[in-house]
Amino acid sequence: MLVQGAGGNVSWKSGDTLWVKASGTRLADAGRDDIFVPVDLPHLTNALSSGDFSVIPKLRQQSSLRPSIETLLHALIPHQVVVHLHAVEILSWLVRNNYERDIETVLGPRVRWTSTGYHKPGAALAQAVSTALDNVPDAHVVLLQNHGVIIGGANVDEISHQLGTVTELLTVKPCPPVSLPQYESLFIADYEFYKPVTDPFIHHLATDMKLFTRLSSSWALCPDHVVFLGARPACYSSMDAFRSEIASGKFRPELIFIRGIGVFTQPGFNASQMAQLRCYYEVLARQPEGAEVNVLSHDQIAELLDWDAERYRIRLMQ
Ligand SMILES: [Zn+2]
Repeated sequence: MLVQGAGGNVSWKSGDTLWVKASGTRLADAGRDDIFVPVDLPHLTNALSSGDFSVIPKLRQQSSLRPSIETLLHALIPHQVVVHLHAVEILSWLVRNNYERDIETVLGPRVRWTSTGYHKPGAALAQAVSTALDNVPDAHVVLLQNHGVIIGGANVDEISHQLGTVTELLTVKPCPPVSLPQYESLFIADYEFYKPVTDPFIHHLATDMKLFTRLSSSWALCPDHVVFLGARPACYSSMDAFRSEIASGKFRPELIFIRGIGVFTQPGFNASQMAQLRCYYEVLARQPEGAEVNVLSHDQIAELLDWDAERYRIRLMQ
């Protein structure tokens, strides 16, 4: 509910060093593996203060890992500790049009926050966050449309408190799951190369008609979602429609949604993709009736999928 797969990142500043999560590593592994790399902080802050957002971070020691694609964000935020998450309870608001107006009424003066519209992760997003912080220099929380949240603080306790406050205020009940009468039988039938997903909640994306309709029209909601699950969903109106296309052998997407039946994947579909899919379900299940969501445009999707840094991150996760 806070972050999925290799998404999100954490950093802290120690003298002239910015310790930041390495690209493609998982925050969930931080207690076990060495997932942070040291980066030259003055090199970044000097470049950023002169408006250079194309600066490449320099490692302070040799490593086979690369610093996170969001390292510039961490460098430009003045706080000692910075946490960036794709938290479901917050993200569910950030995918909507006019999210700032709605959030303002809920957060009120309890949180000092600022926000940005959608921008491609990396230099463009860092520049937008820098502008947002120029407008509200004492902000502890930065909300990123269709993406997630950044929280800065003097220490982990301060951040934990801010995160707790924002999450508590923005938490909404997901729509109640409809019953899945066919769930057991899903695992008996033959679906060619496909297997039903084992997470029952994910099947609701195909069996709850409100969610299925939203899925068909509002797929590309977040950068990681597009990067890990593709530009558009493969939806079928019936089992027959699915079988006739699969039998033609022309098109075999990794992930498919069959209306009223369930959600199926090919064997190569991995845990990071499944985490993204569950996140997507959680976000859709929290949309109020009639809510207008902001779907990424064709150009925004194209720039995400052609991006070399993302290819590297996905390769690491395989
Ligand atoms: Zn992110």
